Amino acid sequence: MEFSKYIQSPIHPLEIHKELEHSYLYYQNLNPILKQRFVERSAFFIAQKKFVARQGLDLTNRIRIIISACAIQVTFGLDSYTLDNFEYVVIYPDIYESPLTHQMHRGETNLNGFICLSWKHILVGIENPSDNYNLGLHEWTHALRFNSINYEETDYFFDGYINKWVAGAMFEFANLKNGKQSIFRRYGASNIHEFLSVCTEHFFESPDEFKLNAPDLFDQMCILFNQLPSKVGSARIGVRNTLLKTNAATTVSVAEQIPVLVLEASFLRTITNMGMGLLYFSFSIVLLIIQFNLITSLVALLVVFGGILLMNYKYFTIKFYDNKLYIQSGFIESFANKLSIDYQSLIKMEIFDGNFDTGFGTVFQLNYYDGNYFSKRVAYCSSIDIPYDKIKTLLQQKKVAVLFPS
Ligand SMILES: [Zn+2]
Repeated sequence: MEFSKYIQSPIHPLEIHKELEHSYLYYQNLNPILKQRFVERSAFFIAQKKFVARQGLDLTNRIRIIISACAIQVTFGLDSYTLDNFEYVVIYPDIYESPLTHQMHRGETNLNGFICLSWKHILVGIENPSDNYNLGLHEWTHALRFNSINYEETDYFFDGYINKWVAGAMFEFANLKNGKQSIFRRYGASNIHEFLSVCTEHFFESPDEFKLNAPDLFDQMCILFNQLPSKVGSARIGVRNTLLKTNAATTVSVAEQIPVLVLEASFLRTITNMGMGLLYFSFSIVLLIIQFNLITSLVALLVVFGGILLMNYKYFTIKFYDNKLYIQSGFIESFANKLSIDYQSLIKMEIFDGNFDTGFGTVFQLNYYDGNYFSKRVAYCSSIDIPYDKIKTLLQQKKVAVLFPS
C-alpha cells in the first residue's frame, strides 16, 4: 500500500481532554489522576502515528483523538503502549473494499505495519457502549497481539503472559466453537486471535456479565491487561499483582499439604540409569577388588560420595499440589533447591526426552512469572515412568499449557 500523504502532528493535551470528556465514556468515568495519564499517553501516541485519510475523508483532530483513545484504552494498564509496529493508521469514511482480499471490510490489522478502520463503524462502536461490539478496541487488540511480530518493543508482561491466557481461554473458546451456549460473539470462534479481540470488546463493554459467566477468564483478562474495567466508575489500573498474589513463586514449605501427584525418581534407579553414576560405583568396586586396604577404602568412599553429590544436582522431585507445583532439586530436603509455583503464575510445562552425554531421562521445562519477571526452570527427572495423561489432565484443569511428545 502507498502512504505518500499522511498527517503526523501533535494535538494539544487540552484539546484531547475536551474531546474525550465530550464523547468518550471510558474516559469520562476515569478518576482525575487516570484522566491525566490517559491524555498524556494519547498525546504521545497521536504524535507518533501517521494518519492516512482515504476516499475523501476529512481527517479532523476528533477522528485522530477518538481512534487513538481506543488504543490507549486497551493498553492502559500496560507499561508499553505505543504499538510501534503499526506506524500507519488508515481511515476510510465507511466500509471499504480491501485491495488485498477484494472483500468489504470495517477494519483490518495488517502485519505489514498498518491498521485500517472505517470511521463510521468506529463511531457505531462507541455510540453503543454495551452491545459488545467495538471496532476500535477489536482492531487495536489485534495490533497489540501482533506488535512484537517484527521485533518491535512490546509490553513485557503481555507478551509473556499471552500463552497463559490462551491456555486459560481454551474452555470458553471450545464452547464457542462447538456451538454451545456462550456470552461471546460467534465471530470469536474463527480463531484464537479473533477470540482475544472479541473477549476484549466484551471485557470493556459488559464486564459484569463477563465476570458472572466466565469468572476465571475474566480474571485472566484483568491480569493480562492489568486493569479492571467498570461501567459505573473509573477503571482500576494495576490490579495484576493482587490477582497473581505476588508471592506466588517463593521457596515456602509445602510440607503440610498432600500432593495430588508426585514424580520422584528412586535413588537406586537414578544411579543405575545414569551412565556417569554407574561409572563412579564401578570404579570404586574395581579399586577395592584390586587392592583392599584402608587407603583404597577411603578413596572408594570419596569417589562414591563425589558421585552422589554430582547426581544430587541431577535429582529432581516434582509434586503437584492442589494450588501449586513444587519442585525440588537434591535428595536431602534441607540442602535442596526448592521452588513452589502457584498455578496462576505457571505459564507452561514442556516435557521432552533428554538424551544427553550425562545419561538419559526426561526433561521438564517450566515457564513461570515470579512476580517481576518471566523465568524458566529446567528439571531433569531420570528413571521414572511419566504419567503423561495424568499430568495433562491435571494441568489443563489448572489452565496451564502442557506440551509433550505424542
Ligand atoms: Zn478481528
